[in-house]
Amino acid sequence: MVQGFLLKYAEIGIKGKNRYKFENALCEQTRIKLAKIDGNYNVVREQGRIYAEASGDFDSDEVIETLQRVPGISAISPVEVVEDKSWDNLKKATGDFIEKQYGSACFSFKVKAKRSDKHYIYTSPEICVEMGAYILSRFDRTSVDVHNPEVYIWVEIRDKAYIYSKVYKGAGGMPLGTAGKAMLLLSGGIDSPVAGYMISRRGVNLDAVYFHAPPYTSERAKEKVVELARLVSRYAGKIRLFTVNFTDIQMYIYEKCPHEELTIIMRRYMMRIAEELAVNNGCMGLVTGESIGQVASQTMQSLAVTNEVCSLPVYRPLIAFDKQDIVNIAEKIGTFETSIQPYEDCCTIFVAKHPVTKPEAKVIRNSEKKIEDKIEEMVREAASTAEITELDA
Ligand code: ATP
Ligand code: MG
Repeated sequence: MVQGFLLKYAEIGIKGKNRYKFENALCEQTRIKLAKIDGNYNVVREQGRIYAEASGDFDSDEVIETLQRVPGISAISPVEVVEDKSWDNLKKATGDFIEKQYGSACFSFKVKAKRSDKHYIYTSPEICVEMGAYILSRFDRTSVDVHNPEVYIWVEIRDKAYIYSKVYKGAGGMPLGTAGKAMLLLSGGIDSPVAGYMISRRGVNLDAVYFHAPPYTSERAKEKVVELARLVSRYAGKIRLFTVNFTDIQMYIYEKCPHEELTIIMRRYMMRIAEELAVNNGCMGLVTGESIGQVASQTMQSLAVTNEVCSLPVYRPLIAFDKQDIVNIAEKIGTFETSIQPYEDCCTIFVAKHPVTKPEAKVIRNSEKKIEDKIEEMVREAASTAEITELDA
């Protein structure tokens, strides 16, 4: 008897001719994640699903949590793979499986059977009836409820037999490696890690960029961003984090430009640098945690003015989310506690009391003329001296 996990996927199913590419990518991502924990798994694809069969000891909770962080998996079930599927053995294996999953609990159940091996001695309805009778006789605290059971027991007869019952929800989405790569603007806040998670769930690999302004922002603030990148990489796979020293650019803008425009001009330079790094590193778009109206720099007018400096698409998965919805996701993916640690990020140091909330592009472009002498060179310098940290949790 082999123990393992049955993995189902949803959206890949509609990919027509390219389906196998998505399935292979999902197997590959599953292997990468499971290689990090105990169990020594063989991951195989079979008839629209994936089995991860363990040949070593494992901690079931740890495996389920790990698999719940693999984009593309919609559901996870611990499964018992029975090689000797003769009826007597299968009954016993099913009973043992129930004992292991539910101990001495009291529950109503229904058996669901599926038989792809058409030579098997029983038909699917017969398996349901016979197996139900066996379970009732072996566990006297159980009862059958065909309409509204507390527990389903699935028995599938293929080359081998498969028994499973509990179903854990997966991350859903698409497997990594099927969509290309994007550059995440990652700050120490709540929103951008969530934005990165959401884009990676669509199968997009990530690099990230953080704008650091020492000594105005502390080393601790930077460590917090590195930790957030690590937490996002639990879902998004390997992330290269570019830490850009933004101090000189920020000071220069602060010296030369109207203070109420500082944030918006700074944001335009962040986008420009992020785009340069993105293009140089094979990224097809930028990702931010912006949401309409959340702060002065995220009004529709500000977003338009920020957006105009980029030619790559800017993906803003949180654009229509309320803060509380974003917080809920941050809690679910485990980034919230880190995000709320109180270290300044570089935007919060120089914020004006009354920043413009309805900037006009031509006014901002005009203000930027005041820094045109040196800024190009400073941008190039900042992008080319970025420090790279690789995260792969
Ligand atoms: P977050 O919670 O993600 O920090 P926020 O609500 O604080 O967002 P802003 O500070 O206006 O909003 O930032 C908007 C977006 O710009 C962020 O979601 C992030 O993508 C990007 N960003 C802001 N500051 C930085 C930074 N220092 N480094 C990298 N990206 C940043
Ligand atoms: Mg922020």
